[in-house]
Amino acid sequence: MQKSNPIWRPFTNMKASPEPLKVLRGQGIWLEMEDESRIMDLISSWWVNLHGHSHPEIADAIYEQAKTLEHVIFAGYTHEPAEKLTKLLLSELPENQSRIFFTDNGSTAVEVALKMSYQYWKNQGINNKTKFLAFEGAYHGDTFGAMSAGSRSVFTNTFEELFFEVDYLDYPAIKDNIDIETAENEVLNKLQKLVSDSDQYAALIIEPLVQGAGGMNMCRAEFLQKLEVILRSNNVLLIYDEVMTGFGRTGDWFAARASETSPDIICMSKGITGGFMPLAVTSTNDKVYEAFYDNDSFKTLYHGHSYTANPLGCAAAVASFHLTKKAEPIFRSFSNRYREFIESLNELSGLRNIRNTGTILALDIVTNKEDGYLNPIADSIKKETYQSGMLIRPLGNTVYLMPPYCITDDELNFAFEKLLTILKKVVA
Ligand SMILES: *Cc1c(COP(=O)(O)O)cnc(C)c1O
Repeated sequence: MQKSNPIWRPFTNMKASPEPLKVLRGQGIWLEMEDESRIMDLISSWWVNLHGHSHPEIADAIYEQAKTLEHVIFAGYTHEPAEKLTKLLLSELPENQSRIFFTDNGSTAVEVALKMSYQYWKNQGINNKTKFLAFEGAYHGDTFGAMSAGSRSVFTNTFEELFFEVDYLDYPAIKDNIDIETAENEVLNKLQKLVSDSDQYAALIIEPLVQGAGGMNMCRAEFLQKLEVILRSNNVLLIYDEVMTGFGRTGDWFAARASETSPDIICMSKGITGGFMPLAVTSTNDKVYEAFYDNDSFKTLYHGHSYTANPLGCAAAVASFHLTKKAEPIFRSFSNRYREFIESLNELSGLRNIRNTGTILALDIVTNKEDGYLNPIADSIKKETYQSGMLIRPLGNTVYLMPPYCITDDELNFAFEKLLTILKKVVA
C-alpha cells in the first residue's frame, strides 16, 4: 500500500499498512492533523512525552543551548548541560546510584548495562559468568544484545540463531483469578534453583513493576524485593530497565524507588527529555564502577556513540527534569484519577485484567482470537479511537492509556467517555 513512499517505517508491515497520517503541529495533549482535525495523544507518542507537545520551556532550553554549544566529543571533554543533568538525576535515583553513563536511546542504554554487568565479573578475574537471566514477555529494545535479553517473539524470531544464552523466568503479572503470591513464589523458587545450580549468571534484567511492550504486565513491589535478596546472596547483578517506567510513570520517580529496591544498574531513556531529543542514561553504583576503575586498559568500558551526551539532549533533559519535579504531585496521585473509570470498566463483561500502576492504565479485551500483539482487534480499536479524536495504539488485545502528565481533568474525562463508548461497542 505504501509502495510509492520511500520511507520505510518502524514496526510496520509496509504492504499491509495504510499510509501514515501527517501531523502538522503538537500543542499540550493535542496533535493537529493535516485535515485540520485534532487528536488527543493518550500514549505520549510512544511513551516519551511527559509534559505535552512543544512545551515552551523545553523548546527554549534547546534553542538557547543550540546557540551556545550544539555538540562536542564527550571523551576527554565535558559540558555544563551534562554535568547539571548528572547531578539532577542522582538526586532522584535510588541512593546507591552514583555513576552516570550517557548514550542516545533505550536499546543502547540496555546494551551498556549488559556489557557493564558482563565485564564487571571479567575485570575481577571471574570468567565463567557468561549468562543472563531475563523474563518472558520482556522487551528491552531492538539491537542484538537488547533483543537477546528480550523475550523471544514475533519481533525477534528471525534472528534467534544469533542471540546469546539467556534463561527465562515467568513475569508474575497481577491478573484476575490468580493467587499472586503463589505465582510469585513459583518464579522465586525457580530463580533460587537456577542460581544455586549454576554460578554462571552475570546479571538479571527486568522491567520493574510494568513490562511495557510485552503487554503492560504489572507485578508487585514485594516480588522485586524478594528477587533482589536472592540475587544479592548469589552474586548476580540486578539490572532495571526503566526506559519506560522512569520519570514518574509508576507513580514515583523510578520503579526502583516505588518498590524500595536498589538495583546495581538502571537504564533510562524515553521520558528523560520529555520527548524532545533522543538521549539515554545507564546509571550504576560504586560497586560496579570500581571494577572498571583501574590503570589496566583492559578493564576500560569500551563503549560510546557519536551523539553521547549531546548537549541539546542534556539541556532538554534538564528543563524536563524541572517540569517533572513540579509535576511530582500529579504523577504521585495519578491513580486516583483512574478510580471511577476503572469502576465503569469493571461493569463491562468482555474485559479482563483491568490494571493500573501510577499513570498507566491497561486492560485486556476478550476475543475469540489468540491473546497477544498480533490480535487483530488492535486495528479496529486504533481506527475507532482515532475517529473519536484519540491517539491510542493497543498492544494486540491490550488497550492502555499513558497520557502526558499535563492532561487536565476535562481532557481525561473526554478520553474516558469516548473510550468507554468504543469498548462497549467492540465487546458487545
Ligand atoms: C522502548 C524500550 C526500550 C528501547 O528503547 P528505544 O529508545 O526504543 O531503543 C527498552 N526497554 C524498554 C522497557 C522500552 O520500553
